[in-house]
Amino acid sequence: MHFTFDNSFSGSMEGFYAPAEAAKPLSPRLLALNYRLAERLGVLVGDASAAELARVFSGGDLPEGADPIAFAYAGHQFGHFSPQLGDGRALLLGEILAPDGARFDVQLKGSGPTAFSRNGDGKAAIGPVLREFLVSEAMAAMRIPTTRALAAVATGDRVQRERSHPGAVLTRIASSHIRVGTFQFFAAHFGADHVAQLADYSIRRHFPQLVGAANPYLALLDQVIGLQCELVARWMGVGFVHGVMNTDNVAISGETIDYGPCAFMDRFAANTVFSSIDANGRYAYGRQPQIMHWNMARFAEALLPAIHRVSLADVDGAKALVEAIPERFRVVWHALVGEKLGLGHDGGDRDAKLIDSLFDQLEDHGVDFTSFFRALAMLLRGDGTMLESLLPAPDAMAPWIALWWKRIERESPGPLEHAALMDAVNPLYIPRNHKVEAALARAEEGDLAPWLELLDVVRHPYVDRVEWSDYAGPALGDAEPYRTFCGT
Ligand code: AMP
Ligand code: MG
Repeated sequence: MHFTFDNSFSGSMEGFYAPAEAAKPLSPRLLALNYRLAERLGVLVGDASAAELARVFSGGDLPEGADPIAFAYAGHQFGHFSPQLGDGRALLLGEILAPDGARFDVQLKGSGPTAFSRNGDGKAAIGPVLREFLVSEAMAAMRIPTTRALAAVATGDRVQRERSHPGAVLTRIASSHIRVGTFQFFAAHFGADHVAQLADYSIRRHFPQLVGAANPYLALLDQVIGLQCELVARWMGVGFVHGVMNTDNVAISGETIDYGPCAFMDRFAANTVFSSIDANGRYAYGRQPQIMHWNMARFAEALLPAIHRVSLADVDGAKALVEAIPERFRVVWHALVGEKLGLGHDGGDRDAKLIDSLFDQLEDHGVDFTSFFRALAMLLRGDGTMLESLLPAPDAMAPWIALWWKRIERESPGPLEHAALMDAVNPLYIPRNHKVEAALARAEEGDLAPWLELLDVVRHPYVDRVEWSDYAGPALGDAEPYRTFCGT
């Protein structure tokens, strides 16, 4: 078992973290290992026994070169500032260099208390660990930037939440764990020097092209805003509701992080909320662009001391960047939905109208969001049965469909090529809530088979398979509104 550790953060960022130590697991047992990811990362696991893997990926054995630390961070949670959060149930084993030179954090999540645990136990239950593994793999398969899951291990311990659960540890891989909340921590407690130090580190690590920019901190803000616009548009394109877009859960790398209460919407409704603690719908599906805007305003505030030090005039530049976010998001969103609808080139304002009016239609008719785009492609192939099955009446969306059809006819390749292009960007299989819940319930009882099958399905989101037809739609009948919980 070998990792190519190269720990740049703990080596150069004294004061930004606390040393950490993993709790010894009682009887670790490997639940899942992501072999393909291990290969991509250059983590050599081939010669290790299952027992050895279980010990390493639960914190029982420390691999050579690891230097475990917990990051300090702050954050706005549901709009309220907490000056002191930090890795309370996670530790960074170290950074590794992949064979292509790319740098990644290897983090153990659920490995026991750290200096930042406050009253928490620092542990994770098996359900949330397998949920994050599954959903982050689904996101990666849909080409949505995300942290990844390398391994899941049952610890043999029990974890007390609303009831007692088997404990587990997730090994999470991220291009870094630097969050908006990391910047907020240093802005709140120290000031310009520390903010600039963290920004310089972040630029070297994620945006080396910005080294030498006139005001690198302003350029950093611009880059991060661009990545967040892209990320939130991509989430919304697959009906994803993150559920806890607190500033400590916004990675500056633009990767999706923190899969606590997230879930995918079935019927389209902009006010969809799954998280049991999001009583006011702050993080509802349709509010995600506004919240991203708000979060980026907090990022700009945290960066301001550093931006200001380079040039006073650039404070206005930062303000302008933040003010431009709604329009910047709109452009990304229209391009993305245009692609989902098979609109190969940008048709300007007329396309924007067609796209915007779609969502009212989907909401009015309670259409299953994921299936709808596949049904459009079927229609192009001359088969309207799937679309009909999604609508309350066969002609419910007829005027919109007619407009879309006319628009598609202006595209150059024929309908069959178009249908294939659409299917390549519109997933057929997402982690449907009822499937996720059923798989996690069985896993908690010790049977991983349904979870493994679901994992296989969501890793292949685009290609229709008859044997997977049961995974392609929402639960039958009137299911209770779906609720998720944060308790990872
Ligand atoms: P989250 O809601 O996952 O973004 O977590 C918010 C903060 O609470 C972070 O600082 C976590 O490290 C901390 N936290 C959450 N659960 C636990 C736990 N079981 N033990 C210790 N800290 C926790
Ligand atoms: Mg978090």
